[in-house]
Amino acid sequence: MPSPRDDCLFCSIAREGAYVNKTKGFVAIHDINPKAKVHVLVIPERHVDTFREVGEFSAKETKRMLEFVAETAREVGLNDYRVLVNVGRSAGQTIYHLHWHLLGGDASGEDIPAGVATAEAEL
Ligand code: 5GP
Ligand code: ZN
Repeated sequence: MPSPRDDCLFCSIAREGAYVNKTKGFVAIHDINPKAKVHVLVIPERHVDTFREVGEFSAKETKRMLEFVAETAREVGLNDYRVLVNVGRSAGQTIYHLHWHLLGGDASGEDIPAGVATAEAEL
C-alpha cells in the first residue's frame, strides 16, 4: 500500500481520528461541518486524490469499501440516505483524498429533488 501523505488531512484522520466506524483499510468519521442531520464521511486509508483514480483499489478493496459505506449507514441508524462523492474543484471537492459523503436523518424529505417528487406525485 502507498504510504500516507504527511501533508494530507484525511491521511492523518484515517490514522488517528475519532471514528464512527472502522474496518480494515477504511474509516468513517462525522463531518466537521454537517450539511444534513447525519453527515458521515467514509475515508479509505490508502491515499487516492479523487474518485477518478478509484481503479487504484483492487476489486476486493472496492467491494469492501462499498459494503463499508452501506454498513456505516446502518451503524449510524440511517435507512434512507444519499451517498455522494464530489469529484474535482468545480464539483465541490475541497479535500483531495477520496471520501464518500453519507447524508441523511432529515425526516422531512426536503432533500428530495423537486423533479423526483413531482414525477412520483403524477403516478
Ligand atoms: P469535499 O468538499 O471535499 O467533498 O468534502 C470535504 C468534507 O470534509 C467537507 O464536508 C468538510 O466539512 C469536511 N471536513 C473538512 N475538514 C475536516 C476535518 O478536519 N474534520 C472532519 N471531520 N471533516 C472535515
Ligand atoms: Zn491522503
